[in-house]
Amino acid sequence: MSYDVIIIGSGPAGLTAAIYNIRAGFKVLVIAGYAWGGQLMLTTEVENYPGFPDGILGPDLMQKMRQQAENLGVEFIDKDAVEIDVNKRPFKVYTGLNTQIEGRTVIIATGAATKWLDVPGEKELIGKGISSCAPCDAFFFKGKNVIVVGGGDSAMEETLVLARVVNSVAIIHRRHEFRASQIMQDRVFANAKIKVLWNTMVTEVLGKDKVTGVRLRNYSSSEARSQNDSSRPFASNNNTKESEMPIDGVFVAIGHKPNSEKFIGRIDLDDKGYVIRHEQYEGKLLKYWSSTNVDGVFVAGDVHDYRYKQAVTAAGFGCIAGLDAEKWLDEQKG
Ligand SMILES: Cc1cc2nc3c(=O)[nH]c(=O)nc-3n(C[C@H](O)[C@H](O)[C@H](O)COP(=O)(O)OP(=O)(O)OC[C@H]3O[C@@H](n4cnc5c(N)ncnc54)[C@H](O)[C@@H]3O)c2cc1C
Repeated sequence: MSYDVIIIGSGPAGLTAAIYNIRAGFKVLVIAGYAWGGQLMLTTEVENYPGFPDGILGPDLMQKMRQQAENLGVEFIDKDAVEIDVNKRPFKVYTGLNTQIEGRTVIIATGAATKWLDVPGEKELIGKGISSCAPCDAFFFKGKNVIVVGGGDSAMEETLVLARVVNSVAIIHRRHEFRASQIMQDRVFANAKIKVLWNTMVTEVLGKDKVTGVRLRNYSSSEARSQNDSSRPFASNNNTKESEMPIDGVFVAIGHKPNSEKFIGRIDLDDKGYVIRHEQYEGKLLKYWSSTNVDGVFVAGDVHDYRYKQAVTAAGFGCIAGLDAEKWLDEQKG
């Protein structure tokens, strides 16, 4: 099987690229993955994707994107790409099926996975009070009480976004100090809506159909600190204290893992595994924004974006990669 464009991944980035490329007259295959549709399949209401005035369920949005691509003639394989060979062209992608799949260009749009807490109650309540995206979901918690779990810059950012709309936000952090930059910590400590529970872990999320609270384990005596108390408690003894905290929402901010293992050694990745873009210029003019270190292989969405991580930005990056692939294919002809 031979294609002009092979897109690996079927979240908003991959499907947008597919829609652009098929409409440009190319033969397009999406290797969609076993878990096709991406991260929005895990959520309920999406209210920040333009065009849906009453919001839309994440899985419905992804179904519509896929339907749009299929109606236009994009082919799909609902399997994971298990290996890619980008040493020579045409590129080859293997899915474990016997057929060899060749592509003149490849767009990598394999997204990222939230690192979840992996505690009882969590899996069942993702999208029902548990989120990993404050810009997406803060609005649903207007006037409510929430927690953020984490201690890096992302956790601070999520907390500050939440503090604009919620009644209160407590940061649950397992250590006695944050990893986050000082400036982000200062902003957090200066906000009267935010408190910090040091040396504390969430051991269970409580609730049946929605989050009603969390079970906590605290590793020191009593270390709930207000934002104005800049002193850092030390985990001085092995005393642990179990407690329950009633809350309306849990925001998990302990990191993301880009889905890029299959590209190790083939495509340039940064130290966290995000695909590195290698922009190409014609003189001073930007030629390809989404190019990787391999000529003819492009990247889109959360697998390279450690900063914005939104459905609409992923779709935007998908559009960029699609247009770059088109231009690249046209150049090969001439
Ligand atoms: C719970 C939750 C709620 C969210 N809510 C919102 C929201 O309300 N609004 C918003 O804008 N954003 C939201 N986001 C963020 C948004 O979902 C992501 O930014 C967006 O989905 C990224 O799109 P993507 O196409 O880059 O990757 P993804 O959506 O991650 O899709 C990547 C796809 O690639 C597939 N894949 C991975 N590896 C392979 C492989 N080897 N072969 C083939 N396929 C592969 C995966 O299975 C997946 O289907 C939310 C995220 C989560 C986790």
